[in-house]
Amino acid sequence: MQKIVLPVLALAMVVACTTNKITGKKQLNLISSEQMLNLGETQYRQVLSSSKVLSNTADSRKVVDIGQRIAGAVNRYYSGQGLQQELAGYKWEYNLIDSKEVNAWCMPGGKIAVYTGLLPVTQNDAALAVVMGHEVAHALAEHGKDRIHQQLGASALAMGLQVAVANKPQETQLAYLAAFGAASQLGVILPFSRRQELEADALGLKYAALAGYDPREAIGLWKRMGALGGGSKPPEFASTHPAEATRIAELEKLMPEAVKLYEANRRR
Ligand SMILES: [Zn+2]
Repeated sequence: MQKIVLPVLALAMVVACTTNKITGKKQLNLISSEQMLNLGETQYRQVLSSSKVLSNTADSRKVVDIGQRIAGAVNRYYSGQGLQQELAGYKWEYNLIDSKEVNAWCMPGGKIAVYTGLLPVTQNDAALAVVMGHEVAHALAEHGKDRIHQQLGASALAMGLQVAVANKPQETQLAYLAAFGAASQLGVILPFSRRQELEADALGLKYAALAGYDPREAIGLWKRMGALGGGSKPPEFASTHPAEATRIAELEKLMPEAVKLYEANRRR
């Protein structure tokens, strides 16, 4: 039995794998990017409609402004590499939600939310840009896809997402919300993996620098994040790994390159 099943599974994996051109990594692709974007849109609206969204405050305008600068920088950067097609499906959107929670997240398609509770930790525009760059990186690297695959498990994947949604709507929706850090209020928290977090850190640092924000603010940011008590750590960043010290060490390695990008792109 095993002998027959395994090669078939292996074949399915090969067929369903595509390379994400942003990260250059192979990814299981049983859920199409289009499906992910559609789900992202729907779920984002749901979260916003059940949250207190701030608009026309100094902070909400700041979140939008930083987001637009990052999206612009990312577009220029990847278009310069002939990868503009990879960004075609993204419709960037930024909202500030009034909540004590220290959190930020990004759903597929570039649907970003920042919680007001994060602002005392970021303290300045550059550190906020580092966090938002990190979220943009999760979206572009399509990390959510990996999380959904893992959450739903093989049986749902074999059915296909649409069938899974039809048959197990509750479960699929929870998996989806959990995959994007937006489900803390539901008691479902699914941190990204260590590898994904460090990848988002590295890309996010670059995006912030390209958008003209000083990447060196990332170090202070993660120190302040590390100083938060365990209970008040943001769900998106609360994974037991990587520890803040590890993140900082990795960021320090990338800093010379990021500072160069910042110097070339800073607003004068
Ligand atoms: Zn993250």
